[in-house]
Formats: sequence, C-alpha cells, structure tokens
Amino acid sequence: MNPEELWQAVLAQIQLNISQANFATWFKDTRIINRDEEKVVISVPNSFAKEWLENKYNKIIFKILHSLDEGVKEVNYEIGKTGLKIIREAPVSFFSITEQLEFPELKVDRETNLNSRYTFENFIVGPFNELPQAAAWAVSKNPGFVYNPLFIYGGVGLGKTHLLQAVGNEITKNFAKKKVKYIPCEKFTSGIITSIRNHDVENFKLKYQAIDVVVIDDVQFLAGKEKTQEEFFHIFNTLYEKNKQIVLSSDRSPKAIPSLAERLRSRFEGGMIADISLPDYETRIAILKAKAQEKGVSFSDEIYSYIATKIQKNIRELEGALNQLVACQKLKNQVPDLETAKKLLEKFIINPPKIASPKKIIQAIAEFYDLKEKELEDSSRKKEVVRPRQIAMYLLREILKCSYPFIGKKFGGRDHTTAIHSCEKIKTEIEKNENLKEEINLIQQRILSG
Ligand code: ADP
Ligand code: MG
Repeated sequence: MNPEELWQAVLAQIQLNISQANFATWFKDTRIINRDEEKVVISVPNSFAKEWLENKYNKIIFKILHSLDEGVKEVNYEIGKTGLKIIREAPVSFFSITEQLEFPELKVDRETNLNSRYTFENFIVGPFNELPQAAAWAVSKNPGFVYNPLFIYGGVGLGKTHLLQAVGNEITKNFAKKKVKYIPCEKFTSGIITSIRNHDVENFKLKYQAIDVVVIDDVQFLAGKEKTQEEFFHIFNTLYEKNKQIVLSSDRSPKAIPSLAERLRSRFEGGMIADISLPDYETRIAILKAKAQEKGVSFSDEIYSYIATKIQKNIRELEGALNQLVACQKLKNQVPDLETAKKLLEKFIINPPKIASPKKIIQAIAEFYDLKEKELEDSSRKKEVVRPRQIAMYLLREILKCSYPFIGKKFGGRDHTTAIHSCEKIKTEIEKNENLKEEINLIQQRILSG
C-alpha cells in the first residue's frame, strides 16, 4: 500500500468515527509525507491542526494505521512546509491533495461555509423525508417569502445538514447576488461569546444583517444558553423583518428543546416545521445504490440488502458502511463478496457502546455551557460555573458511579460532603424541573455520542 492509499484508507475509517464537521476541520489538507520502517509522518496545514491531531485524534489515527499495517509503531505530525495556497497553485505537486479530494466532505466554500457536495440532485426522497424536502425546495426557489423560518428536525444522520446545505447551494445557484451563510449553531454560539467578550456584539449583529439567507444547523445547542438566545432573538427579528430567509435544523422539535426562551420558541414555530423520520427499506437501498454510483463502484444486490437490513436508523452509517467496502475495493482492486463484506462490516454493525469517562463528561459539560474545563475543575464560585459543576458531579456519579471522595477531589479538591450535596441537589431539582431534566438528557446524549 503506498502512503497515499494508506492515508485514504485511514481517512475512510476516521470519517466513520467522528462528526462531519470535525472531520472537515481537522483532516483537511492532511497527508502522509513520510513512511519508513516503523514511523509514519503526517503533514498538517498549521499548528492548530497539529495540536488537535496530537492531542485528540492521535490514538484513533494510530489504531487505524496499525490495524491496516502492523509495521506502524509511531505517528508524528509535521506542519506542512509549503502553505496550503502554494500547494494548490503549484502545477505539479509532489504530495498532491487531489487524492484527498475524494473526500468531498473536505470541500467547503470560505464565504458561504457551504459544501458543494450537498445538493438536491443527490438527496434521495422517500416517504420519510418528502415533506421537508418539498419545503426546502420551495424555499430555495423563493427565499424569504414562502416558509420563514423553515425548521427541519430529525434524528442524527438522517439528512438535516444535507438538506440545509442543499437549500444554500441551490439559492447560490439561482440567485447569484444573494449572500448565503451556513453556520453550525456551535460556531454561532462561540461567535457571540467572543463578541461579548470583546465588546463587539453590535458588529457581530451587523454582519448578520448583511446576509440574505441564514442557515443555522443544530439549534438544539442553544439549550440553556441564555445570552446567546437573547442575541439570536434580535438577529432573528431583524432578518425576519427584512424578509431574509432563515433556515434552521435541530435534532428535536422546538417544543422539545430544553430551556429555550419562550419567545424564541414561538419564533421557531412561526414558519414551517417539517420532520425527517426513518427511511424505509426501499429508500435505504436506493440511497446505497446512488452513493455507490456516485463513487463509481457497484456491489451485488445481496450486499446492498445486507447493509440496508443491518443499518436502519442512520443514513450516515449506511454511507459509512458503504465507504468501508469502497475503500476495501480500491485497496485490493477487487469487488468484495458477501462474506468479505460481512467481515469488513462486523465491527461497524455491532457498534460497540460508546464509553464515557470523567474527562469526557467534563468536556461535554464545558462545551455545553461554554466554559473552560479548567473553570469547572477549579474552585471558582462564579454563578455561571457553580451549577454546571454540580451537574458534572451528578453525572460522574450517575453515569460512572464514581465515589464521592473521588468526585470531590476531581473538582477543586473539595470535600466528599460537597460532592454529596451537589449530587443530591441536582437529583431533587430534576424531579421538579422538567427543563433541567431535558437539559441533562441532552448533555448525556452528547457524552454518549462521543
Ligand atoms: P444529520 O445532519 O441529520 O445528522 P447529514 O445531513 O449529515 O445528517 O446526513 C448524513 C449523511 O447521509 C450525509 O453524508 C448525507 O449526504 C447523507 N444523506 C442523508 N440523507 C440523505 C438522502 N435523503 N439522500 C442521500 N444522502 C443522504
Ligand atoms: Mg447535521
């Protein structure tokens, strides 16, 4: 296996294990630049990416590399000597990124944040997503005037991002002058936080006012973020009054988003709400076939049927399983038969349960409440930290059954009685407070989904 093929195979597997947004962010413009007996050197575009790959993804990268090639004992990361731009412009580049472009997830437009791979043409429609697709199509023909906002919700991996981005791409195509922007909600939130910190909120809002079509993905992440919700509410109103199109997605209906300010909820409900449910068997087969064709390969019907029977609830996983077979076919230059396919997909289809750890829990909570992990772990008594910290303690106890002394120590060297008090407090409050309960559910889901 040459280094490029090896890296392709690694990327194909990593893609299955992390979110699309993370994949695009951290694995763009990476490649193997050196391979000797035991060591693989991976080139990364900048120091930020280097740090992330080293700290967050090294384990998985190594594991996959090692599983593909047992000789690999060590992985190093190096910042590419030539900047990205130069590589792109060079007529012939040594370690070209053309190979990487097989991962269309990595092609994101800098202006709009849109990825051109998501279109209506390659969005398969079935009874489970007919309505949201039709609404999205209507919006992209007449933005700002049919359904505003358009709110699409549904479970993980069922095509929300695809559909939202398709709207963006279609509008860009039809209305060259309209300014479209796709923003993952978490990016929106961190933008607001930063602008508040820099006393720059007005500027932040102005930037949004200049956009004609605002697409915000995964707004369930607004849960519990009061300040962000407040600013979002104002931005929403300004856009709405100017007939700018707003498109939103969420993994649940507006009603089910915990601690969402009532006025924002009613805004979300004020246009068209459409949900994506689960794809039926025929559609799952159609999706597999279409994706295979897109990649220029084809498999036997029994293989399609096997995958479609085993994976029913998540189109991303459906696609992921297929990608495994495609990678295998490309590496071995041979179409896998059903037996080989079953073996290849074994790991994938059994789907080992996700494991939580204290670190993961703390990370998830810090992320959820926009705090630094350190703030949670030290002894600050700031109001906005105290409660998330109590929730963290509670979850350490609930999910991991950690001992109270351990929990106390973990959070600023507190006494075990403090830990008991925090856990009890959250426990009793959950009983009374439906919103808190859902908030914690949401956090739990995030912990367990990695
Ligand atoms: P979500 O945002 O709901 O978690 P995504 O939009 O990221 O899901 O979809 C996951 C993957 O499945 C993407 O690669 C997407 O292109 C693909 N996909 C989802 N729905 C469809 C569909 N109806 N037709 C074709 N591909 C789809
Ligand atoms: Mg999504």
